[in-house]
Amino acid sequence: MSTFLPFSLEGVGIHTGRPCRTSITPTTPGDGIVFATATGDIPAVASAIDPHSIRATNLVYGSSRVGMVEHLLAALLWYGVNDARVDVEGPEIPILDGSALPWVNALVNAGAHPSPRFVEIDAETEIVHGDSVARISPAQELSVSIFLQYDEIEIGSRQMVFTPTVDDFMEILAPARTFAMEGEVEQILASGLGLGGSLENALIIGKSGPLNPGGFRFDNEPVHHKMLDVIGDLALLGGLPLARLEIVRPGHRIMHELVRRVAPKTAS
Ligand SMILES: [Zn+2]
Repeated sequence: MSTFLPFSLEGVGIHTGRPCRTSITPTTPGDGIVFATATGDIPAVASAIDPHSIRATNLVYGSSRVGMVEHLLAALLWYGVNDARVDVEGPEIPILDGSALPWVNALVNAGAHPSPRFVEIDAETEIVHGDSVARISPAQELSVSIFLQYDEIEIGSRQMVFTPTVDDFMEILAPARTFAMEGEVEQILASGLGLGGSLENALIIGKSGPLNPGGFRFDNEPVHHKMLDVIGDLALLGGLPLARLEIVRPGHRIMHELVRRVAPKTAS
């Protein structure tokens, strides 16, 4: 558990293009993370995942909704913020630079320290969605292996294993930015998403590499971002699972189903 001072960050929402501001205030242990919107509160639990989320993790509860919670949730989890009120102005959490680094920097400035909570899971589960597969089984400590597949596009390393006891979230996951393939952009915009997206807040990857000036922040930035998204979705379990996870072609859809299936029924 971390103590911290309240703080706010603001910026554009990547999918709606609208201005968004998010303010985080510590609350009482046991309260959990609660998104406070203009129409009501939304608990950050697996059962609140919007089943219609596309290219993001969105939460719904009653008539209230908040989009793009995953990078913020990953940072809060890692910095031991298990109980907080997250006041949401605008339809989404701001995308900032596309990574979790601005949230990490704000948390560090607010006095938080790395101290992720871990939770036990009961049983082994495997989920298959088309070409994507996710397996989770109880273990002494967390390790997450992911494998991406993007044919004909140079994205750097396609495999990654993250072990929280060995690897540093701040160094290797937090700075990795949201990405899309150049060939996907038209379709994303046509479906009414990505309206706030730009080279300032997303990596756009062409056949021979990123179009962004400066290129990747590190060679394997896309696979690190996928891992960041996996950690952000796992945060909806109330902590990182003591488990071994193997995910082939990870995406929010398969992670949402995994999290819903594994979540303790009392907490969701
Ligand atoms: Zn992401």
